[in-house]
Amino acid sequence: MPRHFGHIADVAVGSPFDNRRALQLAKVHAPGQAGISGAKKEGADSIVVAGAYRDDKDHGTYIIYTGAGGRDPDTGRQIADQDIDFHSNAALVKSQLEGYPVRVIRGAGTDAPYAPASGYRYDGLFLVTDHWIKLGRDGYRVVQFRLDQIDGLPQAQTILVDEGTGAPVATRSTVVQRQLRSSIVVSRVKDLHGHHCQICNLVLEVEGGLYAEGAHIQALGDPHFGPDILSNILCLCPNDHVRFDLGAIYLSDDFKVLDRLSGQILGSLRTVPRHAIDRRYVAYHRELRSP
Ligand SMILES: [Zn+2]
Repeated sequence: MPRHFGHIADVAVGSPFDNRRALQLAKVHAPGQAGISGAKKEGADSIVVAGAYRDDKDHGTYIIYTGAGGRDPDTGRQIADQDIDFHSNAALVKSQLEGYPVRVIRGAGTDAPYAPASGYRYDGLFLVTDHWIKLGRDGYRVVQFRLDQIDGLPQAQTILVDEGTGAPVATRSTVVQRQLRSSIVVSRVKDLHGHHCQICNLVLEVEGGLYAEGAHIQALGDPHFGPDILSNILCLCPNDHVRFDLGAIYLSDDFKVLDRLSGQILGSLRTVPRHAIDRRYVAYHRELRSP
């Protein structure tokens, strides 16, 4: 059976289910036990949030969700490191990269205010917006994901046209994934670098001027809470911004740019006198993938 992303026909958001078997029969969440439904190549289509992990945190419109693996099935305690390449964790990363919607099912048995009183409840679609690795409460590495409720994210209308006639045939709402975060501080950083990427030196010339992005080294928002200040922002081209945000490249304390997979030094971060980078943020970003 092909993996189905998105809502299941005739299953309304808020629908209750008595048990995991009922979720399976309704095709809302296929696995009988696993919390994550997905495969590395296909992505993850649904998760169950039921307080299985001590490091989870449910905020209602967004969830900090711990990946799979390394747990003692009897005590629920972490007894080994989690691996980002483990199939269900890799599936959630794939969904983040592709922007696939993930069905979220909340289960009872936690004291979280958003959990149902009993059984399970289908709570609609979320997007995986971030992932990182940290030392969990039990002292082992855990892979964590941030999922944001799609309803809470900015949407853009896309008009689909007939390929033959060019006439509009439908509209579709697309979630704007890379939330544009502009601030006076970000503009200042871009000006200091003349909109040149600090990693590859590229400057994008577009109609109306030059284009660059401000990349927060320690990300804004929960759970990173990085500050919106000059010393925490890089001026990057969109490609290097994505690589940096996803941890494919990172910085050493002497501002060398390193490739995560090969470990190779790709170059040096270009800096200017009036824009000092704080090594604390650089270390925070680097340790998100290898704490
Ligand atoms: Zn660049």
